[in-house]
Amino acid sequence: MRNFAKPTFLADSVWAVKLDALVRLGIRAIILDLDNTIVDWNQSWLRPQVREWVSAAQERGLGLCLVSNALRSGRVRQIASQLGALVVLRAGKPFPGGFRRALEALGANARSTCAIGDQVFTDVVGANWSGITSILVEPLSPRESPHTRLIRLIERPLRRRWMRQGVKTAAGLTDPMAARK
Ligand SMILES: [Mg+2]
Repeated sequence: MRNFAKPTFLADSVWAVKLDALVRLGIRAIILDLDNTIVDWNQSWLRPQVREWVSAAQERGLGLCLVSNALRSGRVRQIASQLGALVVLRAGKPFPGGFRRALEALGANARSTCAIGDQVFTDVVGANWSGITSILVEPLSPRESPHTRLIRLIERPLRRRWMRQGVKTAAGLTDPMAARK
């Protein structure tokens, strides 16, 4: 399970992910989790850093698709339209169906796609299951559902282990200094 859950890369935040490094790795499309990855849990407000990073991705020709398990589809659609991103609703992560729908929408294959999210057992396991490069970010805010807070108890030791193993700086995707935060 541990290997199945292990992300390809770790990053402090979505905006810490180096887009040029992704492009050099052959990535052409990005699947993005919503809650606690690009917005605070259950919120719609977009941080300037997220907006800038998304614009920079689009300038590089990277396709973007939000893939969310969230039940309130109006909020997810609204965020996707603000960002000019595609969207897959009620994705059922970690099961592959949502990722497959995203790849179809993006016109991309798994090998040239990465998925960025804050949760190991939905975002990372789902991406790994679908053969997609996985990037695990730190949650944007400590505010989240009671269910997720329980899951974090399992995630935290795994994250620490992966950091010790040096997953974070693999391929120079993130600033090595940020890895020590
Ligand atoms: Mg999330």
